[in-house]
Amino acid sequence: MPSFLIVAIDGGAASGKSSTSRALGERFNFLHVDTGSYYRAITAELLRRGLRTDQLDAVKTALPDLIFGTRVEGRAARMEIGGRVVPEPEIRGPGVTAAVSHFAAIPEVRAALLAYQRGQAEVARAHGFRGMVMEGRDIGSVIFPNADLRFFLHADVEARARRRELEGRADAVAERDRLDATRKTSPLVLASGAIDIDSTYLNLEQVVDKLSALIAEKLG
Ligand code: C5P
Repeated sequence: MPSFLIVAIDGGAASGKSSTSRALGERFNFLHVDTGSYYRAITAELLRRGLRTDQLDAVKTALPDLIFGTRVEGRAARMEIGGRVVPEPEIRGPGVTAAVSHFAAIPEVRAALLAYQRGQAEVARAHGFRGMVMEGRDIGSVIFPNADLRFFLHADVEARARRRELEGRADAVAERDRLDATRKTSPLVLASGAIDIDSTYLNLEQVVDKLSALIAEKLG
């Protein structure tokens, strides 16, 4: 029986990863790490510095200046950049949402986050969590290919776009998926061996129950 469990959840935009991961964090006392929020925080910071997604050299020069830290709030990990947590309204706003997949496609941006993301397991252990649930696009394929459990959440693109509309958030879900799935470095893919869950016709509770059953089995 593993003493500390790592659960990876990948999937497209608005596939229900965050709500599911948050609920699993509560149920099992896992640290919830939303790596999309990390790419969003970096995007907000680069935009704040006046950088555009096509200014590759300037972006590469700026990256070493970004000093990452982690603040644990309840069961959620928040990224600090230079000691500051970028506020949620800023990272979820339309400017960041439109730019994030472009910055996330830059290999140096992904490289800057690689060790930091892996280090979140140590943060979770140090805070006494029983495990970590990390969500994103490349967690089961690149960041933690040996995670104890790797899930991939699917949902019909129209259902996902409707979720964002109901939340009142401007989000080109299909376009972000296209950019994320076709980039060269760490694209959005169903990693081999990952458990594929189609949530189009399931509500949140049903998805959480499905994943919980498999997690509980692992925990013994
Ligand atoms: O999960 P969320 O939709 O907030 O992620 C925002 C964007 O961050 C994604 O569309 C993707 O471009 C990028 N991302 C990524 N790899 C991850 C998590 C997010 O490229 N592991």
